[in-house]
Amino acid sequence: MLKEELAIFTFGDLLEHFPNRHIDKTKVSKIKEISPQSEFIQVAGTLMNLELAGDKRAKRLVGQLKDSSGVLELAWFQGVNWVQKNLQPGTQYLVFGRTGFYNGRPQIIHPEMEIYTPAMSEGKPFLEPVYPATEKLKARGLNGRQIGKLTTVLLSSLQRKDIEENIPAYICERLGLMNRYDAFCAIHFPQGPEEYDKAVKRLKFEELFIAQVRVNLIRLQRHKVSKGVLFEKVGDLFNTFYSKYLPFELTGAQKRVLKEIRTDTARGHQMNRLLQGDVGSGKTIVALLSMLLAADNGYQSCMMAPTEILAQQHFNSLGRLLKEMPLEIAMLTGSTKAKARKKILEGLLDGSIKIVVGTHAIIEDAVQFKNLGLAIVDEQHRFGVEQRARLWQKAPLPPHVLVMTATPIPRTLAMTAYGDLDYSIMDELPPGRHPVTTVHRYENARASVMDFVKTEIAKGRQAYYIYPLIEESEKMSYEDLMQGYEQVKSFFPEPKYSISMVHGRQPAEQKDVNMQRFVSGDTQIMVSTTVIEVGVDVPNASVMVIESAEKFGLSQLHQLRGRVGRGGEKSFCILLTGRSASVDARERINIMCATNNGFLIAEKDLELRGPGDIEGTRQSGALNFKLASIVNDKQLLELARYEAEQLLEEDIEINMAKNLQLRKFLASQKGKTGWSRIS
Ligand code: ADP
Ligand code: MG
Repeated sequence: MLKEELAIFTFGDLLEHFPNRHIDKTKVSKIKEISPQSEFIQVAGTLMNLELAGDKRAKRLVGQLKDSSGVLELAWFQGVNWVQKNLQPGTQYLVFGRTGFYNGRPQIIHPEMEIYTPAMSEGKPFLEPVYPATEKLKARGLNGRQIGKLTTVLLSSLQRKDIEENIPAYICERLGLMNRYDAFCAIHFPQGPEEYDKAVKRLKFEELFIAQVRVNLIRLQRHKVSKGVLFEKVGDLFNTFYSKYLPFELTGAQKRVLKEIRTDTARGHQMNRLLQGDVGSGKTIVALLSMLLAADNGYQSCMMAPTEILAQQHFNSLGRLLKEMPLEIAMLTGSTKAKARKKILEGLLDGSIKIVVGTHAIIEDAVQFKNLGLAIVDEQHRFGVEQRARLWQKAPLPPHVLVMTATPIPRTLAMTAYGDLDYSIMDELPPGRHPVTTVHRYENARASVMDFVKTEIAKGRQAYYIYPLIEESEKMSYEDLMQGYEQVKSFFPEPKYSISMVHGRQPAEQKDVNMQRFVSGDTQIMVSTTVIEVGVDVPNASVMVIESAEKFGLSQLHQLRGRVGRGGEKSFCILLTGRSASVDARERINIMCATNNGFLIAEKDLELRGPGDIEGTRQSGALNFKLASIVNDKQLLELARYEAEQLLEEDIEINMAKNLQLRKFLASQKGKTGWSRIS
């Protein structure tokens, strides 16, 4: 029962089933203090009467308890006979239970009753734990208090040696952390609020510290022990391109990140780096230069994108940039025709193709490389860990991996969910970008919004019109989209205007054709679902209208908005909503109107949604903290990270005597989390 309902399998799990809160059993309240907000309460008073009510089948026992301030109703539906025999009207009782209201009067069902002596409410506070239980368990009579009793029995049978310390003593001492055994005792049965807080802090730190040791162990072992492809030199390809064909001066951030990649790949250890940059910060060129570095050292590279459209676009822009370079590049996706595919596979195997751009198709087993040295994964949140692992099997030494995110990830999330990777940050946009002016309008202002779009088109600009199609297969939203398309058409009649439409139900080829017509400026308006969310680059587009903006998440909105403001023109994003948007949705819209900074938006997104919902978060147990929260415990997380790094810098094998307890603990935990499965 416990096992199924609460995932409690062992005594250890029971110990880690922490109370929601504690109740001070020495505090006696007045009956008149009971309000619909009070949950559990303890009162003392005289039991005035005790009577059976209801019929035979639904018998219940009802009593009245009176103190100097009012009357409280008590009721029992079970064990009626026993209760009736054991309680005496006229006696003073100490009564405890969860309060409710019945016909406007306060009531406790199945209260706990003890005969009251005033001395009881004096003396030391006694904090009794209240545990989370589930409705099913409650129905079987196992509520939070029974779980508390089990825990009491368990704790009293355990000794200090049974709950071994796992954080090295010198760290506990330096940080003033409570010992592990004491912390477990105190979180369940604290002497007072301060002791409880200390216990919680200790156990939160433990969770974060152990997780940080794990991820940093992977990261630092890679630096110190792993064997990787060696890019010895910066050669002709890189230098020629850099001096002759680079179409712009790199931003400071781009240069810094390139330097980090250069250093990483020149050490003979494998690089596994996460590149975080805001939308439009120019990650593609960093990818291109890294691939030239690989080619200079005789290695092949691949670059993977989450969609065909995006892969095609990368292929086109890389092709354009590398036009004058003596370098063969190819594109491989699911829709590559058999004959072309065969040629590409041969070229990859014999090494004549140096760079291949594509989709998931690249990691299929049939694709073999001569010497893959670098794999770039664009917009990583759609690429799973296992898929990346498959990449590694394509070369004798694991290729360097550069993962590029679509939008920034909050620092705390990067440290936990992606802590095994090194990361680079591009927090600078190319010069000349104007922030996109973002405004919120209600749907009934659509006509004037359309007029505004017309004035932009009259200036030669292009516009995006976005519809939420959360589930591409949802019939309803598909119909909405078609209706929306007709509506846009009625505002922008042919032949004066022409419109492209792209959505997830179209065959890839049709998508591409429609997309290309917009890219080439053939159509002025692009009606689309979120399929354009990621990556498309049409600098001439200066307006985006987002319908039902309340249905989008923050990072999605930011990513969408990143499609405009890419040229030198002033750009606009108009968020349309109905009047009934939720509080959270309003908050999202406000944030979007207030800032263009993706790093800030990512933080807000995490605060609003919580870590569980963030797209791309690994389901690896990295975030399954029982107590700690990466939103509320940022400082503790920073501290845990610092301590874990210090420890591993000194003792990467975790071999030193002073770290022995940590070593033992990690060994005992093997296989308990998903970490062993991670790259
Ligand atoms: P993202 O980081 O979102 O993938 P892209 O790599 O698509 O961004 O770059 C966005 C746009 O900025 C592209 O049109 C690109 O050519 C341009 N760009 C990139 N770096 C620079 C730079 N240093 N100076 C000027 N324009 C740049
Ligand atoms: Mg990009």
